[in-house]
Amino acid sequence: MAEATRELLWGVSGSLAQKLHYVLFAIATVIFVLGIIRWYRILKTGRDDEVRFDNLGRRFYYVIKDGFVFVRLYLREEKMGIMHLLVLWGFILLTIGTLTLTVAEYVTSEFFRGAFYLIFEATMDLAGFAFISGLLIAIHNRYFAKPSRFEKRWAQAKDDGAVLALLLVIGILGFVVEAIRISSGMPAYTALIGGFISNLIPFNLTAYRVTWSLHSLLAMLFIALIPYTKLAHIIAGPLNILTRTERISGREVDDEEYMGAIEPKDLQWRDMLSSLACMRCGRCQDACPATNSGTTLSPMFLMQNIRKTLDESFDLIGRQKKDDVLLLDSVLDMEAVWACTTCRACMEMCPVYIEQMEIIGEMRRGIVESGEAPPDIRDFLTNIQKQKNPWGEAKYKRDAWAKGLDVPHAKNTEFEWLWWVGCGHAFDSRNQEVARKLVRILDEMGIGYATVGREEGCCGNDVRRVGEEGLFQLLKEENMALFEKYGVEKVFSTSPHCFNTFKNEYGGFESKFVLELILEAIKDGRLKLKYPVNKKVTFHDPCFLGRYNGMYDLPREILQLIPGLELVEMPRNRDNSFCCGGGGGNLVREYPGEDRPNNIRAREAGRTGAEVLAVACPFCMIMLEDGVKMEKLDDRMRVMDVVELVHQAAFGVE
Ligand code: SF4
Ligand code: SF4
Repeated sequence: MAEATRELLWGVSGSLAQKLHYVLFAIATVIFVLGIIRWYRILKTGRDDEVRFDNLGRRFYYVIKDGFVFVRLYLREEKMGIMHLLVLWGFILLTIGTLTLTVAEYVTSEFFRGAFYLIFEATMDLAGFAFISGLLIAIHNRYFAKPSRFEKRWAQAKDDGAVLALLLVIGILGFVVEAIRISSGMPAYTALIGGFISNLIPFNLTAYRVTWSLHSLLAMLFIALIPYTKLAHIIAGPLNILTRTERISGREVDDEEYMGAIEPKDLQWRDMLSSLACMRCGRCQDACPATNSGTTLSPMFLMQNIRKTLDESFDLIGRQKKDDVLLLDSVLDMEAVWACTTCRACMEMCPVYIEQMEIIGEMRRGIVESGEAPPDIRDFLTNIQKQKNPWGEAKYKRDAWAKGLDVPHAKNTEFEWLWWVGCGHAFDSRNQEVARKLVRILDEMGIGYATVGREEGCCGNDVRRVGEEGLFQLLKEENMALFEKYGVEKVFSTSPHCFNTFKNEYGGFESKFVLELILEAIKDGRLKLKYPVNKKVTFHDPCFLGRYNGMYDLPREILQLIPGLELVEMPRNRDNSFCCGGGGGNLVREYPGEDRPNNIRAREAGRTGAEVLAVACPFCMIMLEDGVKMEKLDDRMRVMDVVELVHQAAFGVE
């Protein structure tokens, strides 16, 4: 029996179709390379303030894990993880197959027979099947299942359907070509799908050549279109993953002249690359409290608008043709810039690690530096500058909450831990109740602690999130001097905002969140939770504790140690939690959307049937108490700090 193989370029060898194929390949390659060079030149105009190529082993690990195996995507949405696996690996195998055919045709065809050939044919068939199946899943998802992330569409997104259709037609034509060839009387061998289709198609050489040419034309069109359409994410996505950051702190730009992102050239080159990596999946905007509240902010629109703005500012070979473009209004309007609550959900959700929130932060910095911040943001900053708190309460009242309590001051006592009370617990009446209960808990725990009373200032976390870098650095210097004055080596904070900035943006001392110390005390028996709290409780993850610092288990572990307490989860919890809307300066602003993040979250909590909406952040307390009242849920659900539930369990009184 003859060894399994087939004639290469069967039916088209030496024909016009074959010659046309070479011409098209040359044209497509030139267009593709020009597009890549153009984007390379555009990216070169961006800033380069961050190390993006250190630790290459770890970086490539993430490229493989999330760019080629789609683990990050699969963990969030199994169906879409599988869809991407099928499309990408189908595509990779088909490309390797095409290269193999080229080698066999022009170098040696010795290997192209027998077992190799049988495996090759079977693999190509399976790869084609996987490719088409993945595309059908994508089409079904986008046009029939329509998850909520596709609800808000970027108006210029014209190529979504065209790109899917192009790939699908290329995949189908590949099978048709194979089937017509087999129907000429060739054995199908292991090409089971092509063999099956060949039974349905009568042989016709002209039809074969036309189909082969069309398949070739569309494949070349696909190559040529990559740099010019959303297909660019095929290349930019893995590069974006390669250049991801593990930094939690805000971006540090060490350049006296830098005043934030005002013009396109103020963007980091990596943010420009990210605009090509964005595939308009909508996951960021689906999680975004600002988008959900109906403001003009969508992190997806931001990335698409950056790409569009860059595209329009440079000519076809990457020379700048417009130099008077401002990012404000080109990529985001004023409302959108300030609607961001800096909740980090967009960055958490993005499959290719785009840093949308950081770009907004840089734009805020540009607006603040230009003196164009909206009046309420200016008031917010002035209040912090003058009175060291967001509300502008007189700073001498900072320790008034502790009146009548024996709260040690650092100047009068030996202490191990400095308790950084924070603006929320010091000035807001509801949070003051929490602070007072905490004093009793701390005494019971027997830790050596002290506060700095009215000498305490603002940690600067939200000042930095608002983009006032200069004020942040000033506050940091003042606070560090205060710590030095009192010989502070360990700080625990009652607000995740303070905890975050001390831990990630200060340095030089140990920073803990109050619940860490409480859990330690419960575990080693210094704090006994003796009294049952027979309540159904749902917990709202604060962004600066959860997404910023990965502390999802800590509050839940404490709640589960409280006797009688039943913990129920909201549908969006842990890293998928939905922000209360109080971050990024929005605590003291009138939120611009039709709805508000705190109302949305209160409704979600209400649907669990919980009697208590537990929080672990003074901002969440303020925002969600308001949301619960606005949604008229206050007759059946209370907002309580985890500290208050611990207090009740420890002392039997609320
Ligand atoms: S940080 Fe939060 S509010 Fe800001 S754009 Fe991202 S998801 Fe939206
Ligand atoms: S920024 Fe990321 S999450 Fe948002 S649409 Fe683009 S790829 Fe999807």
